[in-house]
Amino acid sequence: TSFPAEAVPQAPEDPLFGLMRAYKADESPNKVDLGIGAYRDNNGKPWVLPVVKKADDVIRSDPDLNHEYLPIAGLASFTSKAAELSLGASSAALAEKRVASVQTISGTGAVHLGALFLAKFYKVDGANRTVYVSNPTWANHNQIFTNVGLPIATYPYFDKQTKGLDIQGMLKALADAPERSIVLLHACAHNPTGVDPSPEQWRDIAEVMKAKKHFPFFDTAYQGFASGDLDRDAGAIRYFVEQGFELVIAQSFSKNLGLYGERAGAFHYVAAPASDATATTTRVASQLAILQRSEISNPPIYGAKVASTVLNDPALFAEWQENLRTMSGRIIAMREALRSKLEEYGTPGTWNHITDQIGMFSFTGLSEAQVAKLRSDFHVYMTKNGRISMAGLNTSNIEYFAKAVDSVVRGT
Ligand code: PLP
Repeated sequence: TSFPAEAVPQAPEDPLFGLMRAYKADESPNKVDLGIGAYRDNNGKPWVLPVVKKADDVIRSDPDLNHEYLPIAGLASFTSKAAELSLGASSAALAEKRVASVQTISGTGAVHLGALFLAKFYKVDGANRTVYVSNPTWANHNQIFTNVGLPIATYPYFDKQTKGLDIQGMLKALADAPERSIVLLHACAHNPTGVDPSPEQWRDIAEVMKAKKHFPFFDTAYQGFASGDLDRDAGAIRYFVEQGFELVIAQSFSKNLGLYGERAGAFHYVAAPASDATATTTRVASQLAILQRSEISNPPIYGAKVASTVLNDPALFAEWQENLRTMSGRIIAMREALRSKLEEYGTPGTWNHITDQIGMFSFTGLSEAQVAKLRSDFHVYMTKNGRISMAGLNTSNIEYFAKAVDSVVRGT
């Protein structure tokens, strides 16, 4: 070999997938999986959305069904509707043809393609800019940006005292960052905290970012999951676009369509309004195509077909919205149940953050030691930062979990 493979160090196992493995190996009948962010129904089972089953029937009944390659940029009937879903059907950016969309290997692939694109082309005085991510953020952000050579820094986000947003800390960090920094923003249902800025706070964030000419990089993995309303959950992105930012969006359909393993997602570049914006967008699209070709050649077809079928059919789209309300509604009900049980038991501390936070996750405030005890004594699996995936709770295990939390918080 041309390199000493003996010198390749052992890397640690991915913490989240390691957790999943440990959960599977646990033989306790009481075990509770609150690790990975995947929706579960009230029986703790994966849920194939009814609308996805219908879309699958539509796809399979096509007599011309085949397994040909998609174009490099993916399925156009999917990416165009995906852009509309994020930006809004009446978006000026779409009307003015200043959006370039590429189908990706789900949200992760979209973040990666965006990172690669910025590493290659987003330079100030010939040098790359730092990417600012929230503290904390989805753990994968760090390695995706680092792997393409972009420097990373953090901005304050979670206030440990209030278990809410540290808006002052965030605004100050963005104001102090060098001009034209890249700022990664979670469009809604922030992972891991479940804490989102209010519409007024988004306005303040946009104002600072505009003053400092920062570049917004939106990651949207939970549209429709936060509030159950697709438009409401896209509010921040649409506001930034209306404000005239040039920006990018990494979009996942894993959670909102339950297509996790199918890897359906898209990357969108939106140019700022300008007379040459369409020409700029065309050039950007041409470069994205080169990067895509060298990385994956062309994206996978099935998940994109499912999403496209749902997004392009008004009846199926309406049914999807209903399915989204089922998922977000069950999660909200579990938040309410967990909070009321902990308050009923008089568990030390305050628990309002459980219902204040939104989306798939709750940042409980449990310490690493308490998390470890939950696992060793109660077979409860969650990430060591105290994050729980709300979807892992259901009417059969919520009391068990609440009592376990009560016990470790009391230290008994
Ligand atoms: N971004 C965030 C914030 C996420 O939480 C996730 C999934 O957990 C993703 C992106 C990407 O997920 P996927 O690649 O499965 O679409």
